[in-house]
Parts: sequence; C-alpha cells; structure tokens
Amino acid sequence: MSRIHLRELGHSYADGVYALKPTDLVFEHGKTYALLGPSGCGKTTMLNIISGLLQPSEGRVFFDEQDMTVVPTVKRNIAQVFQFPVVYQSKTVFENLAFPLQCRSWERSRITPRVNEIADMLGLTSRLGRPARDLTVDEKQLISLGRGLVRDDVAAILMDEPLTVIDPQMKFELRRRIKQAHTYARVTVIYVTHDQNEAMSFADEILVMKDGLVVQRGTPEALFERPANTYVGNFIGSPGMNFLSLKRSGDSLSLAGKIISGLPIALPEGDITLGVRPEHISFTDASDSNGFAAIIESIEDHGSVRILDVLIGDVRARMKLARETTVPPAASALTVRFNRFCFYANEQLIED
Ligand code: ADP
Ligand code: MG
Repeated sequence: MSRIHLRELGHSYADGVYALKPTDLVFEHGKTYALLGPSGCGKTTMLNIISGLLQPSEGRVFFDEQDMTVVPTVKRNIAQVFQFPVVYQSKTVFENLAFPLQCRSWERSRITPRVNEIADMLGLTSRLGRPARDLTVDEKQLISLGRGLVRDDVAAILMDEPLTVIDPQMKFELRRRIKQAHTYARVTVIYVTHDQNEAMSFADEILVMKDGLVVQRGTPEALFERPANTYVGNFIGSPGMNFLSLKRSGDSLSLAGKIISGLPIALPEGDITLGVRPEHISFTDASDSNGFAAIIESIEDHGSVRILDVLIGDVRARMKLARETTVPPAASALTVRFNRFCFYANEQLIED
C-alpha cells in the first residue's frame, strides 16, 4: 500500500552533528528491509523519522505521493515494535489485541473474528484469556506485533531490535513468526538490527549503515559476494573479508612475488588490495598455476568450521573451512588458492 521515500532527508539533534547525513532512500512496497550497523550509526533515528516519532531537521518523508513529514504518528498507519514489548500488563491478550480496534470504533462483532485471526497467525490463541503479565517476554513481543497488525490499514511494520530481550532459543521461533506476519500482511517491513545474521536471514534487502549514512544496500548475497567497500567487507561475514595488499610494478600487481591475473580493466592509481572471503580460500596442489605458497600459523576449532590463520609470503589471511576438510597441523607449508575475489582502491570496490 505504501512506498516510502525519504527525500534529501537528514537529521541532527540539538548538538548540530548529523545523526543521519542527508540522503535519498526508497523502500518499495511489500518488501522486507534490514537496517544494519553498529550502535550509534543512526538506525533508530531513521526508523523514528519514518514513524513520525521524530521530525527530521531537513528533507521530507513521502508515503507514495503523499507528504507525511509533519503528519503525526497515529495518522501514519505504522505498526512499530520496539526492543521491549509494549503491552497492557493487566489486560488479557485478547483485550490487548482488541484495543487498537476499539480506538478506531470497530464494532464488537468485527473485533472478535479479527483478533482471533491475528492470534491464530501469531500462535497466541491458547493465551487469549490470560492477562499479558503471565506471558513470557517473547510472547509479549508477539502481542506488540499483533497490536500493530490487527488493524487492516497498516502501511508498514517498523521493528527496532525486536529480539534484543528474547532468549536465544526463542529467537528462531519469533523470527519465524515475524516472517509469517509479513507474508500474511503483505506490507513493507523495516527491521533494525546490529546483528548481521538476523539481517541476512530476514531481509530481501539490507542497508548497511555507518556514521549516519547507508554505505551499501543490496541482497544478502550481493553484500557477501561483492562488498562495495572494505567497511561492508569487514562488517559482513564471520570473520570478515581478508584485504591483502598487492605490490604494484608497471601494469601488473603481485602477491608474495606472484603476478595476479584477472585484474579489472581500468585500475586506478595508488594502492590496490585484494578482497577475498575466508570461505573462498581453499587448499590446492603445489602444481596449481593459481596457487600461492602458504604456511599455517594457527588453527581455531569452532565446531562446525575451522578458522585458520595462514601466511602467504608476509601477508596474513584467514581461511574458513568446513569440518570435513582435512587440515594439516600448524606450521605446515602448503598451497592455497582464491576461488572468488574483488579488488579495492581507497577502500572502495573497483568495478569490472
Ligand atoms: P542506533 O539506533 O544506530 O544505535 P541512533 O539513531 O540511536 O543510533 O543514534 C544516532 C546518533 O544520534 C548517535 O550518535 C546518538 O548518540 C545520537 N542521538 C540519538 N538520540 C539522540 C538524542 N535524543 N539527542 C541527541 N543525540 C542523539
Ligand atoms: Mg537504536
């Protein structure tokens, strides 16, 4: 129902420093988005501007063609879920879910089936008669979500780190319910998190933020395969991307004395680094023409995977290997290859 367009939008709080640097962003109708970035990068500021809890110091907020910048929150048809559940503790679950409809003067005969439908979708049917205070925190978070969804005019669901207070075991279940709610309501969802796994597993598109600016937006796959800058390369992935300094002589670049082939056509001046994911380095035969001589420095066992530090010449890189891969002991000499990689100059991806 609504495409959200932030036009030349920026925000500074009283201190005059931009919490959100002026930018233009569009959220298409019906898609799921994650705003991902470390604490303090401006995620909550952006969300609160979309919901109307905060007035931007510059720029406009449009829902479709309608300018919403000064429209109050209650008139924006936004469902918002915060870190901590917002429920009426002494009211029953039914009453909590019915409340937004009573406020909109729905008739009782319409309220009951609607509340039942939402409770069923969220798995809260057996709890409807209980006071909210008897419920677990993840169930309360579902009530918060339900209170937003129960209205039939919701333009978007905005969630600000909704799993923060949830037990790790329950996070998976709650995330599944949130996804289900999205499929059910077919609205735009903007989900704020500092956790890349939450963002990756939830969103069609991720907006990675740094210091009040979106530094890359794209599918989880795009962020993983072709980070637009070294910041995203580091932030996404565990461990992050390796950035290996290359040595330049004339038109060629080399690593550990070996010329690198497959360079982009137009190489900028200055220092070039090769970005390679730990997942994309593998062992190979000494005879492999794309191989690099390496020495294993250390091996960390993470259960399902092992993370290795290897030295390629005097450059250190991390490899991530599946449990099944046979790993020689530390200090072993071997040959590694890069199966996929990108090039960077001044911390920015060099496009082919
Ligand atoms: P995030 O949600 O990504 O952690 P925020 O949007 O809360 O980031 O904050 C962005 C920046 O704005 C931070 O530097 C924060 O200190 C500052 N900030 C947030 N809220 C206020 C406020 N009410 N007054 C002044 N500065 C604020
Ligand atoms: Mg925040």
